[in-house]
Amino acid sequence: MPTGRLVDGCWIDIRCPRMSSEKVPGLILDRDGTIVEFVNYLHRPEEVRLLAGAADLIRCANDSGIPVGVATNQAGIDRGFYGWKDFHAVEAEVARQLDQGGADIDGVAACPFHPEVTPSWNDSLARWRKPGPGMYEALAQGIHIDLERSWAVGDNITDIEAARASNMAGAIHVATGHGEKFREEALSLGSENFLVFPAANLFCAQKIVAKYLYEAP
Ligand SMILES: [Mg+2]
Repeated sequence: MPTGRLVDGCWIDIRCPRMSSEKVPGLILDRDGTIVEFVNYLHRPEEVRLLAGAADLIRCANDSGIPVGVATNQAGIDRGFYGWKDFHAVEAEVARQLDQGGADIDGVAACPFHPEVTPSWNDSLARWRKPGPGMYEALAQGIHIDLERSWAVGDNITDIEAARASNMAGAIHVATGHGEKFREEALSLGSENFLVFPAANLFCAQKIVAKYLYEAP
């Protein structure tokens, strides 16, 4: 049984609530094309394949006391291609495969909206869907992370835009999934106050995370 709930139509699942409410630096990851192989409108558990380095990155964060959230746009739901039940089945499979690698995700946020299909599209719906900051903010609240000291990892330009809109410390843009296509644009979002680094994959991302998140003063 899934453990989360719908909040304003988005799925928020806080799986490992921490006892302390003290805010710490954390990691927010995209799902499709970042931690799992990109499949268009992924909704079948048998098509879930973790990308290389996903379990290692998340396990290291777990071991270092860094909460890990996953934020995923799932417009396939409002487009009618699949339902929440399919989404939960895929999530269970992602969690199962990560567990085999000793890794746990602390919280998941999923947004079913899309401006082309979601009725009564407005600013508050747009806030939830990446590039809006809504899912990152909801995760930050749920898993007690301080976004200003946290990092995002994603393959799409919208993952990086959402991180910037959430005032995160920085983002790592991976070349998996849609990464190649968005590389230049993603890096152009970087500034003195919002660092953006390129990484070929999650193994490379882990080195950057280690430097800026684990070793940060
Ligand atoms: Mg993606």
